Parts: sequence; C-alpha cells; structure tokens
Amino acid sequence: MDGIGKSSFTLLLVFICLPLFLGLYRKYLKMKLVKKSFLIASNNGGIGFDPKNYIYNEKGFKRSNGLERKFKRDYLFDLLEIYDHRCANCDRSKIKLECDHFFIPKSLGGNLMMKHIEGYWVSNAILLCRRCNSLKADKGIHEFFQKEKLKEIIDKNVEVSFLLNGVDFTKYRSDHTL
Ligand SMILES: [Zn+2]
Repeated sequence: MDGIGKSSFTLLLVFICLPLFLGLYRKYLKMKLVKKSFLIASNNGGIGFDPKNYIYNEKGFKRSNGLERKFKRDYLFDLLEIYDHRCANCDRSKIKLECDHFFIPKSLGGNLMMKHIEGYWVSNAILLCRRCNSLKADKGIHEFFQKEKLKEIIDKNVEVSFLLNGVDFTKYRSDHTL
C-alpha cells in the first residue's frame, strides 16, 4: 500500500470507528448513570438529600424559571401518576394537590429538579394537599415527615428521578426493590 492509500485507509478506519466508539462511550455513560441511580435507590436516603451536593444558580430563587417550567411541562403528569393523585403526606385523594419542593425548599434556591454535583438529575418535587403543604412550609424532610412515610416518598422520588435521567423505570421495577 502506498503512502496515500495508507492514509486514506486510516482515515476510513477513523470514520468508521469513531462513531462506533462514541456510541459505545455514550452507552457506557448511560449505564454508569443507571448504576448510580440504583445506588441512590438501594441506599434509601443515600440519594444524599444533602443540599450541599446540588448545583444552584440565582434563578433557583425565582418562582418560575426554565427548570421549573420544564419539570411541570414534561413530568407533572408522571408525578401525578406515581403519587396516584394523592397527597404524599396524608394520602387523601380527590382534593387539590400542589406540586412543591421536597428536600431543598425554594428559600434555599431549590428547583423542582436538581442537578447533583456528579451530573445526574434528582427530583425535588412532591405532591401535597394545601393543608400539608402549609404545615410543611420550609421544614426539613426529616423534621416534617414520619419515618415510614418518608421512606415511601423517597421510593417515589427515585422513580421520578429515573425519568428525569431518561431511564425507563418500569424495566427495572421487577428486578429491584426500592
Ligand atoms: Zn395532605
């Protein structure tokens, strides 16, 4: 093979291999994310819920911003389904529910979906009836919710978080107890 033939052959190889490599790399990243999500799930509370582990910007303090709108537009229906149209705290249904902030209150810059410092999304949304929402106000989750109730909510939260990361939760539901 002469010099030109050799270099065009190399070029051809790069053109074929690069997209393959990138595809595999993306798959690898996605799997890593899924694994991370499972870690979140199995640790139950290992989701961090530590406001220090999340990325904030000044828009977070605004009632309506891009992330809040995106969550409400794309995931509110899923949230309602996952919570079975009930208040997360008192379980009442057929009442008006409010979508509010779960573990990072608005006053601390929380959005309905929060980016973890390690790059994946975690749902910071919860459905509460008006009464429970006003009782919760800015109280911390461990302060406000009963222990068992909190475990239930965290499981639902993980389910929503899967969706935020583009992972089809139903595929994993049968194999993993959350
Ligand atoms: Zn309630």
